[in-house]
Amino acid sequence: MRQTKRFFFLFLFISVFYTISCRKDKLKESPVISRNFESGSIGQTERTSDTSWNLYLADDNDNPALPASWRSWWYVRADHLTVGQTLSFTLKNSGWTYYYLPVYSYDQTNWLRFEETEVKQNDKLEIVITKAFARPTVYMARFYPYGFTDLQRWLNRVKSHPHFQLLKPGYTQQNYPIYLIKLTDESINVSGKKRVLIHARTHPAETPPSFAIEGLVDFLTNGSAEAADCLARFEFYIFPMQNVDGVIAGNYRSTPQSENLEVLWKRHPELPFLLDPDVPAEVKTIHQYALDLMQDGGPGLSVALNLHASNSMPDTRTFFFPHFGPLSAAYTTAEAALWDKQIRFIAAFTTHAGQALVEPPPAEGGRGFVQNAFPESWWWINYNEHVMAMTLEMTYGRAGYAPLWVAPPDMRLTGKALARAIRDYFDSSLHYNMVNTAAKTNLPITEEESKQ
Ligand SMILES: [Zn+2]
Repeated sequence: MRQTKRFFFLFLFISVFYTISCRKDKLKESPVISRNFESGSIGQTERTSDTSWNLYLADDNDNPALPASWRSWWYVRADHLTVGQTLSFTLKNSGWTYYYLPVYSYDQTNWLRFEETEVKQNDKLEIVITKAFARPTVYMARFYPYGFTDLQRWLNRVKSHPHFQLLKPGYTQQNYPIYLIKLTDESINVSGKKRVLIHARTHPAETPPSFAIEGLVDFLTNGSAEAADCLARFEFYIFPMQNVDGVIAGNYRSTPQSENLEVLWKRHPELPFLLDPDVPAEVKTIHQYALDLMQDGGPGLSVALNLHASNSMPDTRTFFFPHFGPLSAAYTTAEAALWDKQIRFIAAFTTHAGQALVEPPPAEGGRGFVQNAFPESWWWINYNEHVMAMTLEMTYGRAGYAPLWVAPPDMRLTGKALARAIRDYFDSSLHYNMVNTAAKTNLPITEEESKQ
């Protein structure tokens, strides 16, 4: 009996000891930083103390031949963090030195900006995050992520609207659908309508335009009289995500083949309305659809918007890259006509978005784009001023909302303003006075620098 008791206590002691040591082992499990999920990206990670890490930004596709300016996006998951302990993460190897506030989330759904007190720049202008987290697993990213899954989820929510059609005119190189949203009131004949083309996410990590497209489509499908009027008078064709493969891979600028699709509208030497047969499927799909709309006997496209987002100083607001300039600056009649249309569109957009949220246009845009293989170059060579083709650049910082930092609801409002600007751009009874205050602006880069 005594023997049995002894064994019993020994057994109890061993099991309690075993349980405690297991729990201790669990608590001691080392933090892990990973990128193995959609849009995830980070290069080498280094633990420099119990509570601090260096995170090196990755090249797209870990391809060291790509330019430094292509290193901007990062998106990580950190596991096994000690709750409540102040931790520090230094983002190294970025191609950009602008100050910014990254975002974090405990569930990949609800995202928050870090506070300005939690994010400093060190003497190398690297971003240093210092924060005690409330959960052991946290996701952190350069900016609000918006993946292919997010796009599909949103499409599922809106696709039942009677004037909403979801088309799949092509597939990416990795065989994901390149979605096309067509929005119009089909009961009204196309002959009196205006056709508008919009595409986004050529550069995969430029997520702000995805929120803008949500805002634009949500506005046009909200059932209001204003929306019904737009759908009666317009056909909207929207490619919400051109570079799906790059988005899934966690790239900033390129496809998994390291192609920058923005500069691959390579015109056929003899037939410039065609492209070289070897251009990637993502370019071919949009080009072919646009060409069909120009040649199907309908009204043709008259607006083609190319949506991007730009690294910049925190207070740089949304801006445009208009081309050419006024007659007074020695541009031809056709060049000045395109310029005037672009300025009119920017003015209409500024009216709806609010002056405080849009950079004034430059004094002129120049001719540099003509030699390039941007989508706008293709439009100009083939259709001159008849198609108002232009790039819009959203920004990631305070973007006119100071002291706040721009957030998804704000970016959705940008899309709503875009829809109204498109409508009013065609309303000849509206006159805009745009004071050219280009001298005061401090835009970060030229179109060529931005798009290379
Ligand atoms: Zn871009």
